[in-house]
Amino acid sequence: MPIRVNQNLIMETLNENWGLFCSKLKKVKQTKNGIEALCPSHNDKSPSLTASYTKEKILFMCQAGCSFESVVSALGMEPNDFFAPELPAPPKKKVAKKTTTKKIIKKKSKSKK
Ligand SMILES: [Zn+2]
Repeated sequence: MPIRVNQNLIMETLNENWGLFCSKLKKVKQTKNGIEALCPSHNDKSPSLTASYTKEKILFMCQAGCSFESVVSALGMEPNDFFAPELPAPPKKKVAKKTTTKKIIKKKSKSKK
């Protein structure tokens, strides 16, 4: 599989998760850098959860100090949903000896009887 496709896939996955994340939050408000919303992990009255996302991960922080895990589990999501899956390591190319480009043309013996 070409790596380009993988990267697009990762972006889409994270995009989807970001959408899911936002859809689970309440009083979501767009900000310059991302969003702010009510923290699902504590009894939040004014939005104290700020979140944004990059190519690699979804970042959020609760001003009240809720832990990553508690917010994630309050949302019913998995910690893995917040990180782009790691790219598979590119296959190591064997340092192949340069074969001479000369093609050995096999003479087809046209020996029709
Ligand atoms: Zn909180």
